[in-house]
Amino acid sequence: MKRIFISDLSSRRKFISDTGKTFAAAALFSLPITSFASAVLKFKAIVTVGQIMDAFIKQVPGGEKPATVDTLKAGSRDIVVTGVVTSMFATIDVIKKAIALDANFIIAHEPTFYNHADDTQWLESNNVYQYKMNLLKAHNIAVWRNHDYIHSLVPDGVLVGVIEELGWQEYEDKKVPYLFNFERAPKLDGLINELKDKMGIKMLRYIGDLNQPCKKVLFMEGSAGGKTQISGASAIKPDVLICGEISEWETAEYVRDARAKGDQISLIVLGHIASEEPGSDYMLKWMKSNFPEIKTTHLHTGNSLSFR
Ligand SMILES: [Zn+2]
Repeated sequence: MKRIFISDLSSRRKFISDTGKTFAAAALFSLPITSFASAVLKFKAIVTVGQIMDAFIKQVPGGEKPATVDTLKAGSRDIVVTGVVTSMFATIDVIKKAIALDANFIIAHEPTFYNHADDTQWLESNNVYQYKMNLLKAHNIAVWRNHDYIHSLVPDGVLVGVIEELGWQEYEDKKVPYLFNFERAPKLDGLINELKDKMGIKMLRYIGDLNQPCKKVLFMEGSAGGKTQISGASAIKPDVLICGEISEWETAEYVRDARAKGDQISLIVLGHIASEEPGSDYMLKWMKSNFPEIKTTHLHTGNSLSFR
């Protein structure tokens, strides 16, 4: 999206916006030229929650989705944005940090209220839910889940963030999305160390032989679901399948059986948050290039679970 602000102070009429944004600048036209110039320095475009959502959705192939979990979980489209936070989750901690940053719009990747559809009816008498919702309402904060839309970008915006974090651009398969080809064929042990190191993961789970060379690597971030992970592994036959989150009774059992049958396939389970955190970095960069006038911060939620 291109927005043109003021390119020439001698011409007051050059306030042009191709997005139809509302500018709080009408008063400027009646000012003498000197006050006008100083007012221009303080000039700030008004951007609403809805305008940011629309700008993102507009660039997604197919545009607006009739059925999506990517709805506003709190606040409304017409809230004027004071600052943006991108994050994996709008946790209570993230909300409090957003308030401290004077940011009233949180773009989260995952649900706010502990279920995929963010159905809140069953939570009405739950005091954790009440505390969180009251906090959001008291500070008039909007929370938008950007999950289906960012994954629908071509290429998948979360995967773009992952590739940048890992520096795996040169290994990306040109035809098959999510597939990486490593000519250097690192051993599984080395690959695990590289992932832990670059993605800031303390501990992860795996199935396989640590000495096995890994040439074909299928990376399925997040929680794609057992059927998707297993069908992907079966169709592509990678040396290693890397997942964010699995159901132990689905994908892990499939990999165990595939190995027992004689297939060379390993499994690495990174953890859901670690595998998708780079998506919030992608959103930060997107905000900086599309709405540079708005202060945007990426807040890392980190893993909710500890290891010992
Ligand atoms: Zn995701």
